[in-house]
Amino acid sequence: MTQDGRAIHVTLSATMLELKGKRDRFLCLSHDITLRKQAEQEVHNLAYFDQLTGLANRTLFYDRCSQALARAKRYGEMFAILFFDLDHFKDVNDTMGHHAGDQLLQLVVLRFKSILRASDTFARLGGDEFALLCCHVPEPDGAAKFAQKLIELGKQPFEVDNRQIYSGASIGIVLFPEDGGDIPTLLKNGDLAMYAAKSAGGNRYQFFSEGLNQKAQERAAIEAALREALKNDRLTLHYQPQLDLRDGKVVGMEALARWHDETLGAVAPNRFIPIAEQTGLIHELGAWVLRKACAQCKQWHQDGYLVSVSVNVSIKQMMQEGFSEMVVGTLLEAGLEPRYLDLELTESMLMEKAAESVALLRMFKSLGVQISIDDFGTGYSSLSYLKNFSVDRIKIDQSFVRDVTVRDDAVGIIKAIVAIGHSMGLKVIAEGVESQGEEEKLLSCRCDQVQGYLHARPMPAAEAEAFLERAQTSG
Ligand code: C2E
Ligand code: MG
Ligand code: MG
Repeated sequence: MTQDGRAIHVTLSATMLELKGKRDRFLCLSHDITLRKQAEQEVHNLAYFDQLTGLANRTLFYDRCSQALARAKRYGEMFAILFFDLDHFKDVNDTMGHHAGDQLLQLVVLRFKSILRASDTFARLGGDEFALLCCHVPEPDGAAKFAQKLIELGKQPFEVDNRQIYSGASIGIVLFPEDGGDIPTLLKNGDLAMYAAKSAGGNRYQFFSEGLNQKAQERAAIEAALREALKNDRLTLHYQPQLDLRDGKVVGMEALARWHDETLGAVAPNRFIPIAEQTGLIHELGAWVLRKACAQCKQWHQDGYLVSVSVNVSIKQMMQEGFSEMVVGTLLEAGLEPRYLDLELTESMLMEKAAESVALLRMFKSLGVQISIDDFGTGYSSLSYLKNFSVDRIKIDQSFVRDVTVRDDAVGIIKAIVAIGHSMGLKVIAEGVESQGEEEKLLSCRCDQVQGYLHARPMPAAEAEAFLERAQTSG
């Protein structure tokens, strides 16, 4: 203690003095080492704690998990690890700034901490990813109940910058010993479970299961093979005609990616496109599809068939910087006029990024490129956005077309979609038309165009050209 009452750290050294043959005195020296101790503490904090939230960091968490594992093995106990991330954190960061994002993280931590036990270790693993080590879990049900409590807490709004923010949580749960015998396996499986909870729509928990593992392995195999296929130019494009309902003329061809892998066999786009999106491969794939489709369309023009080409675009791809420049570059390279290129964007993807899409779509409009909303009717468009989206065409989803001959109300729905589309000056095309009956109904609904197996399946370029030739001679 100093004279003014502060507690300080000191080192003390004492030397025995010998005076006149007697050894009964000591020389004591003390050093104030408070600053050094503080610095050491800071280094320790930096090494083991997250600076923003004060929670354990990844290193300390790993350490605690290792201790829990050793204890559980010795005493035959079980423990659970919950992994979670916030469902809308990225949106908050993107739209309100990093400061607001940081504030949200701190508020979440504060709220979740209120129901933790002293023996739990709560850690921030990075970004909006958290983990919770619960050492005293009598049965899996306990972990599930606890996860549900966290989810309920996460559903309540958080006040950030005077705004109410709703940010749910997706939680993945792993149990020792069932889900892994070592920490790396438990962490990996926990991540898979969390990812599954998020993919299922968020605001929920998911236990790890072997099935998830299998799915992840399958995904990884597809990703690796797709990477190779792209590198070696082993993907192909098929084309499906789009016809005008009134005069039967072919107005366009939709380019659809096809992939046949030596070991995996034929992999459907519905399987590999989402994987390409998740892994970022979609940019390369999308650029390839666009290049190939534009060149093919130009070729058809030169052969005397003046059709458009429709290319499916993922929203991730569209949002990437430089996308519009890439489209312009591809059109120039192919020598194709922009009005012959139609970009198809699914309604659900557009609505997910509605605000950002508006400006981008306007820009495409100014370039003269056509835009269609794909799978219309499945994604809850708001009419106000539809007006702002500056699109040219609506593609009514196949599910509505399917119903048209069996359910009376389906005709009403299609009539309504067509009326809305026409009132906004848009063309309306129905996709997945398989029968004459469906087509007749669509005509009576004043639908403009059709595409589907009734006229042709997606086919290789040469067959598509033969189709164009037949259509021209018969028309
Ligand atoms: P989409 O753009 O809505 O394409 C229509 C899908 O319906 C195609 O499936 C097509 O083969 C199928 N189809 C067409 N007519 C009929 C019909 O009469 N009956 C039935 N039952 N089906 C019909 P596909 O080729 O398997 O493609 C599935 C989805 O994959 C596409 O849906 C599109 O969203 C995506 N996709 C395909 N190629 C690409 C691509 O190059 N880039 C991106 N981003 N997505 C692609
Ligand atoms: Mg499409
Ligand atoms: Mg579609």
